[in-house]
Amino acid sequence: MPPWVLAKKKRIFALPAAGVLLAAILLLVSPAPTAAPPSPLLLAAAQELDNVRYDLVFQPENHTLSVTMEWDYQNRTGQALTDIPLRLPANAYKKEATSPAASPELIDLCYPGGFSPGGATLHDAQWNAVPADTWLDPQDETILWMRIPELASQGKGTLRLRLVLDIPDCRHVFGRGEDVWMLGGVLPYPARYGESGWQLRPLLPIGDAPQPELANYALSLSMPKGYACAAPFAWQQEEGSANMLTGALPAGRDMGLVIYREAQVSRAMAGEVLVQSFADTKANADKALGYAVKALAFFARSYGDYPYPVFTLSMADMPFAGMEYSGIIMTGRGQYAAKDSLEVTIAHETAHQWFSVLVGSDSYTDAWQDEAVSEYASLRYIESVYGQAAFEQLVFLMAQSPMRENIRPEITPGSPLDRFYTMQEYSTVVYGRGLALMLALDTDTDLHAFLRSYVEKYAFSFASREDFEALLKETAGWDTAPLMTDYLDTAI
Ligand SMILES: [Zn+2]
Repeated sequence: MPPWVLAKKKRIFALPAAGVLLAAILLLVSPAPTAAPPSPLLLAAAQELDNVRYDLVFQPENHTLSVTMEWDYQNRTGQALTDIPLRLPANAYKKEATSPAASPELIDLCYPGGFSPGGATLHDAQWNAVPADTWLDPQDETILWMRIPELASQGKGTLRLRLVLDIPDCRHVFGRGEDVWMLGGVLPYPARYGESGWQLRPLLPIGDAPQPELANYALSLSMPKGYACAAPFAWQQEEGSANMLTGALPAGRDMGLVIYREAQVSRAMAGEVLVQSFADTKANADKALGYAVKALAFFARSYGDYPYPVFTLSMADMPFAGMEYSGIIMTGRGQYAAKDSLEVTIAHETAHQWFSVLVGSDSYTDAWQDEAVSEYASLRYIESVYGQAAFEQLVFLMAQSPMRENIRPEITPGSPLDRFYTMQEYSTVVYGRGLALMLALDTDTDLHAFLRSYVEKYAFSFASREDFEALLKETAGWDTAPLMTDYLDTAI
């Protein structure tokens, strides 16, 4: 998720420089880092998924990204379809009233020059190469309905869209800052069909945006010479075309990209995984890289292998600590100035690669399921690197203090996103009190070990709160339900 803290809480435990130094030495003696082919597990997960191809043309002078999407779509709704809802997340940024960056809490931080509209202009929509009727949902312009000839359950066809994204002057996951363009979760996609039907929830200023279904991504990107693009893979130069890059992400849950007019890039291997770090200076790129290599190794040891061949860190112009996408995280520029906070942020966003990306969960109804779990995982990481004292200091800041804060009694860590008024209360309740639940569970059961079985069971699929609770009860050997209810659904 993005704004788990508005770059505001200070962490003050002392970190020894030895770890960073050791990582730097390891970088010097390792062979040139390159991406490995996808693992057999990843290829197996990719087997049954839709394939999508995006051809992108970036034009920095007018801040646009032209997008051609070809989505080989399979009807998995269990019923015949004549209309398919596609999501155009960029359209949420059209108006102040719907922009996730324009809440009273965020607007001055995200739009320092005043509100700036962004959005998608549709040029062409086709189903199986035939022009299709489309219309924007009257309530929410991020939903584009497409009429198709009846498609039987399990039937397949190709959705094709051509559109142009206007990138707003906005410090957010979609927007631009100083010579940087953030493109987080902003490419169009067919809406996910979940247990409760089509997932058509709006984008909110709090929590994560809705996600597509897992899919196999293939991208091409053309942009001016000298520009750099952080992506969840290593770009390949297209033969015969100096400015055309291609890349692929099998079994991705979403797509995040960040384009820079100029970037420093550092690379290293964490086991089999190529880790690449994009930032404004070499020192910043190296610093973030060192933390990510350590965090990735710790989480792989703890919860099973990282799923993708590449893990990318990208510095972004936004007032949040960070935001995760499949194989890539964005980290707020301000974080790089605060050393200890940068490491905790990178650990949290890296943990999301297991809890949110590899194991999907509903970030609208059960945000705690990836946020509180990632907080817990990052605490365990800090403990493994800096020991018990640092761990306890963070427990005090991250879990005990939020338990003492005064919060409206209507909201609990189990509340859906639309119940929260501000990111501050969302952060206190979902992250802080959610983490307190994880620590409470940890006193009578080995939560760390449970999370490993949870990832094993739900890798590349989706776990509901019921799935989480059922497996927890089974692993713990005692009835964990009252404790879960006490923390998740009961106001204090
Ligand atoms: Zn998060």
